Amino acid sequence: MLKKSIKDFKVQGKKVILRVDFNVPINKNGVISNDKRILESLPTIKYLIEQKAKIIIIAHLGRPKGEYNESLSLKPIAEYLRKLVDTNVFFSPEVLGLETRRLIRLLGEGEILLLENVRFCKEEEENDLDFAYKLAKLGDIYCNDAFGTAHRKHASTAGITNFLPSCCGFLMKKELEMLDKLMEDTKRPFLVVLGGAKIKDKIGLFNHLLDKVDKMIIGGAMAYTFLNALGYQTGHSFIEKNKIEFARLLLEKAKAKNVQVFLPVDHVVASEFSFMAKYIICPTSKFPIDGIGMDIGPESVKLFNKQIKGAKTIFWNGPMGVFEYKRFSKGTNSIAKAIANNGNITIVGGGDSATAIANLKLENKFTHVSTGGGASLTYLEGSEMPGLVNIEEKGEPMGSRVNLDIIKNKKSD
Ligand code: AMP
Repeated sequence: MLKKSIKDFKVQGKKVILRVDFNVPINKNGVISNDKRILESLPTIKYLIEQKAKIIIIAHLGRPKGEYNESLSLKPIAEYLRKLVDTNVFFSPEVLGLETRRLIRLLGEGEILLLENVRFCKEEEENDLDFAYKLAKLGDIYCNDAFGTAHRKHASTAGITNFLPSCCGFLMKKELEMLDKLMEDTKRPFLVVLGGAKIKDKIGLFNHLLDKVDKMIIGGAMAYTFLNALGYQTGHSFIEKNKIEFARLLLEKAKAKNVQVFLPVDHVVASEFSFMAKYIICPTSKFPIDGIGMDIGPESVKLFNKQIKGAKTIFWNGPMGVFEYKRFSKGTNSIAKAIANNGNITIVGGGDSATAIANLKLENKFTHVSTGGGASLTYLEGSEMPGLVNIEEKGEPMGSRVNLDIIKNKKSD
């Protein structure tokens, strides 16, 4: 899919509405604890500064559910951004309204205006078209660089593209190119490593990947549903009872398609779900009846690492255990290190796996660590990405996707 990039538009003197993903973790003291998403947006922002565009940034933080919430204000992000760019960064304490319009009138070429958290407006997540139209009227061109929210059908990601010539920013382009490379230009063996809590969230992905990969490693809580499907008892481990049949069928299909599936062979089993719980290590066949599987064991790590070493392409999404608790993080960390040392194509689908890699400071050892967990999974399973649908493709005339009928209705309102 060859979507237009910001380089395909002349932006000098134009008001460019740039949707970015500044949804970064901010701790109790207001300090940004991981600025990866801000840093990843910088190439597009700096390009627009150099090209002398008037840059109006829309972003969200957290889940304020359509209401103002001081702790989720983007004001600290405006301050942070000021330190990273060599231009004026203004902040509007609202999304739409007189102050935003006043600041836009004053905005010079190459300067930035960051609007307040767009999710403070309930119309954003409803993809309200009136709201999207008003957002669009703030600018001349729309550029979506928010890969992390491209799978959401929101006013500032989807609705707005009805009203303005639309293109991708550099981060969006990079994310799509990396995921396309994974699926289309695959060096084999292709191994996918999936973990995390729920099969439910990854059904589309499992089904889609089965036709593409050579090997699949399944860890995390979801492994227990698969082990159940094979007839093992897994004590009080987290399982999805209504997905056991899906797991059984998936294993059958994998066999028929010659995809090798690797499940944990031993486990770190705790007596309770707690960061200080006592634990034992046991093989699958000796799983205690009242135990909870919290992490993969050392034999599983060895087995998985061997597969990782031999792979030419790896996609990883989801932790191998409850990695937020230090004593149950060994499996996830060992897998992260093994993939980091693989040296071939290694792509990480954001979310908790990206957090684990950031904790270990291994980010530079991967081909690509996605900024969007849900978005990368949605894209890889081949589902529609509402934030991309209406972005112009190369070769299309500028503005050809603008929906004139909707605009006509708006004008006659
Ligand atoms: P997901 O969002 O589906 O990728 O799941 C991530 C979550 O899965 C993390 O918060 C982990 O703590 C959790 N998780 C991984 N392994 C286990 C496990 N064995 N039992 C319970 N939760 C787990």
